Amino acid sequence: MSDRQGWVTVYGPCVLCRQMFAFHPHHVPSTPVNGVREPMCESCFRRVQAAQRAQGIPVTPEPPPDAWDSMPESEL
Ligand SMILES: [Zn+2]
Repeated sequence: MSDRQGWVTVYGPCVLCRQMFAFHPHHVPSTPVNGVREPMCESCFRRVQAAQRAQGIPVTPEPPPDAWDSMPESEL
């Protein structure tokens, strides 16, 4: 068995700012748009949380720490 772990980086445009960014497809925060889950980049996610705090509405929970990171090949 190999001890070399492969990593997969998925890129896509952010649902809000449309910037391309890398993310973990299973952990990244996402918003459904026309029934399709669209990923949200970290800076937009922080802005959404700040806006929720400012409005006093429930704040979206933190995603897993690797949400904006590569994904181990084994999780594909
Ligand atoms: Zn964004």
